Amino acid sequence: MNLSDMPPITKVSVVIPVFNEQECLPELIARTTAACKLLDCDYEILLVDDGSSDRSAALMTEAAEAPDSRVVAIILNRNYGQHSAIMAGFGHVSGDLIITLDADLQNPPEEIPHLVDMAAKYDVVGTIRANRRDSLFRKTASRMINLLIKRTTGKAMSDYGCMLRAYRRPIVEAMLNCHERSTFIPILANTFARRATEIEVRHAEREHGTSKYSFMKLINLMYDLVTCLTTTPLRLLSVVGSFIALGGFALTILLLAMRLFLGATWAAEGVFTLFAILFFFIGAQFVAMGLLGEYIGRIYNDVRARPRYFVHTIVGQDPRFTAQGNKP
Ligand code: UDP
Ligand code: MG
Repeated sequence: MNLSDMPPITKVSVVIPVFNEQECLPELIARTTAACKLLDCDYEILLVDDGSSDRSAALMTEAAEAPDSRVVAIILNRNYGQHSAIMAGFGHVSGDLIITLDADLQNPPEEIPHLVDMAAKYDVVGTIRANRRDSLFRKTASRMINLLIKRTTGKAMSDYGCMLRAYRRPIVEAMLNCHERSTFIPILANTFARRATEIEVRHAEREHGTSKYSFMKLINLMYDLVTCLTTTPLRLLSVVGSFIALGGFALTILLLAMRLFLGATWAAEGVFTLFAILFFFIGAQFVAMGLLGEYIGRIYNDVRARPRYFVHTIVGQDPRFTAQGNKP
C-alpha cells in the first residue's frame, strides 16, 4: 500500500456556522449550491444556527425543506460561539470530506472545488488569504503564533484565521473525540493531520452586517487558541520566578561585597538589602505558583481527555480487530 494513496472522496459536507446573517443567507445558499454542483461527487450543506435572533433560522429551515434540497439546517438553542457551532455541524456530517466556511461571504464558496481537488492527497487543507491586508502588529502576532503552532503540532501554518478549510472524515471524528469546551478548530485539526497543506484563496469584504465578534469575544477566542495549543504559559510562571529570585540573590551577593569593601555607610542603611530580600521572596512565590500551574495544566489535559493518540492508517490487519479504531 502506498501511504500517499488516500481514499477517494464520494461525498462533500459543507459546514457553515450562522449567527444573525439573514442578509447573507440567500446569496450564501445559492453560491454554495452552485459551487457544489460543479463537483464530481455528492454533497450536502449543513447550516448551523448559533442562536440567531433574526430570521436566519427560519430562512435555513425554509431552504432545508425545499424540494430536492441538499441543505440541512441544525438549530442550536442559544449562542455557543463559532467553533462550537462548527463542532455541532461536525457531529451530523455524512460526507468523507468536510469543508467549513463563514456565512458572511468573506470566504468565496467558489473556492470549494479547489479545496476538494487539493484534498485528494491531504488530510487537512488550510487556506491563506491572498489579498489580506493587516497592520504590522497583527502580522507580528500572527508570526509568533505560527511559530508556536509549528513547535507544538509540527505543522507550519501561515494563516490560521481563515475558516475556509477542508478536513478528511477521520480528522473530524478525532476532533469530536476531544471533550474540551474551548476549541480552536484549525489548530486542533493540525494535531491529528498527517499531511496538511495550504492553498491561496481570495478573501472578500463582509457583504452585509457587521462582524459578530465583539472585543470580549475576540479575547476569548485568543485564549481558546492558546489553551488549545499548549499549557506552557503556566510553566512560564516558574521561569519568570526563577529569574526574579536569581536577580534577588545576585543583588544580595553584590550588597554583601559592597558592605565588606566599601564600609557600612554604603547601601543606604539597609534599603537595598530589603529590596534584595524582597526580590528573592517574590521570585520564590512565582516559582510556587508555577508549580501549582504545572498541576493545573496536567489536570486540564486530563479533563479535556483528548485522544491519547491518533492512528492514521493500519496496514495488513484483519478488519475484525480494528473495531476499536481510535478510541482513547
Ligand atoms: N459566528 C457564529 N457564532 C458567533 C460568532 C460568529 O456562528 O458567536 C459565525 C458568523 O455567523 C460567521 C462566522 O462565524 O459565519 C465568522 O464570524 P464573523 O464574520 O463575524 O467574524 P470575522 O470575520 O469578523 O472574524
Ligand atoms: Mg467575517
